[in-house]
Amino acid sequence: MSDSNTKYIFVTGGVTSSLGKGIISASLAKLLQARGHSVTIQKLDPYINVDPGTLNPYEHGECFVTEDGAETDLDLGHYERYLDTNTSQANNVTTGRIYQHVINQERAGAFLGKTVQVIPHITDEIKRRIRLLGKTGSYDFVITEIGGTVGDIESLPYIEAVRQLKWDPDFSCIVIHLTLVPYLAASGELKTKPTQHSVKQLLESGVQADVLVLRTEHSINEDIRRKVALFCNISTDAVIESKNASTIYEVPVMMQDEGLDQVVLRKFDMEVGEDPDINQWKSFLHRLKNPKRTLKVGLIGKYIELKDSYISIHESLIHAGAVSESALDIHWIHSESLNDENVVEKLGDLDGILVAPGFGERGIEGKISAVKFARENKIPFLGICLGMQCAVIEFARNVVGLKDAHTTEIDENTSNPVIFLMEDQKTVTEKGGTMRLGAYECSINEGTKAHKAYGKALITERHRHRFEFNNKYLEKFASVGMNATGINPTGKMVEIIEVEDHPWFVGVQFHPEYSSTVLNPHPLFVNFLDAVIKEKK
Ligand code: GLN
Repeated sequence: MSDSNTKYIFVTGGVTSSLGKGIISASLAKLLQARGHSVTIQKLDPYINVDPGTLNPYEHGECFVTEDGAETDLDLGHYERYLDTNTSQANNVTTGRIYQHVINQERAGAFLGKTVQVIPHITDEIKRRIRLLGKTGSYDFVITEIGGTVGDIESLPYIEAVRQLKWDPDFSCIVIHLTLVPYLAASGELKTKPTQHSVKQLLESGVQADVLVLRTEHSINEDIRRKVALFCNISTDAVIESKNASTIYEVPVMMQDEGLDQVVLRKFDMEVGEDPDINQWKSFLHRLKNPKRTLKVGLIGKYIELKDSYISIHESLIHAGAVSESALDIHWIHSESLNDENVVEKLGDLDGILVAPGFGERGIEGKISAVKFARENKIPFLGICLGMQCAVIEFARNVVGLKDAHTTEIDENTSNPVIFLMEDQKTVTEKGGTMRLGAYECSINEGTKAHKAYGKALITERHRHRFEFNNKYLEKFASVGMNATGINPTGKMVEIIEVEDHPWFVGVQFHPEYSSTVLNPHPLFVNFLDAVIKEKK
């Protein structure tokens, strides 16, 4: 199928990184979607890793997992949360993946003796990946966010691909460039020079920006807009202000007020018409900003110095909080700092406890102490992936009486491997992309907390793990109060565990946080917070 009906929007960044290209892309997509267009967003990442799956979260934040099992950049999480539609493997491409593909082709003899070069071979592969989503015929707009900052050596082939596409008569696209307008407190001025330089730098690579989005801490007046427009070859109406927002969920409303979607449509010679209604979004925002209560929830993890490591969990809590008009006071607690001795002092004040996913030994005993505290003191508890596995280990040790129970991820020789390696993982030697990844079915027993939350018996949820509950222990656990309440119907893997005689104690082997969106907050998070409200002292 041809992509000639699809319009492409490139989003580049200048001056500094972390300006929020992902949020601007998602906000624009939301506004176009509200106008009735089908939109998807793609992220091109200029690093050499084939995907972020092998990256330590300290490097790049959370690794987001799509339904089809791709380990991707965390921005895809924002795209899904804003648009309420799924992304896929094709929505995230890295330089590593591009080169891997081209080199594999070269080995297969596909280039017929030609010298393989950055231009045209790498740029052709980049262009092919960009067009792939349009070629599905499913989208009116494909927004492609280019990671990094214009001027980075790594970004050059991507900018070159954009330059070539701009000249392709069968390809309809515009470029939105996001930059920073810093404020100099000493002189009380907003400075536009960095923006001018950055637009010029883009131009040196042959790409003229069509729309400029200016990140700023203070309002940008008409004079500044005119000046930027004049120096950057941009029409004044295409200079868009993006002021710091109190929450990322305000940005679509701000972009609608600034007319970002309107200017985009005008650049494509499309009809603009009335502003679309985004009332559902605004009502979420209203509930978010006018909470009736505050809930203290502890997030126990080992990467808490970089909050982006748990961004989907954080956002899921925010979405669920808005349902009950509750603000969340999230206590980020380092699992390495926790033990049975200090747990009362560190967690005693919390209304709810969430133990986060993770890999490896560091901090695991602290997570187990947190589980014990939540279980014994009847504090609502949600354990995700490793958090669920810790709940199983804790229960084995302290209730079943298997003192040396462990996961074989940490202790291969434990005589009670209550969590152990999945059968199909035993022969795996590679690290990247080799886990149980993506969506799998789970059937839930009636009369359980999970069933109450989902309101149905068959669900699918996304996974990212190697280890699992050892079914040999199922009966023993059930006889003393921990039940497997959700099971994978084909492989019989335990997906959900619950503890009886507790107001709300649920552990899930999957990652509910990957599928919570603004308009569809995840039922497990919503029910967890309902329990938190109910049990709150
Ligand atoms: N390390 C655990 C496993 O591989 C849990 C993974 C996770 O928390 N995502 O099974």
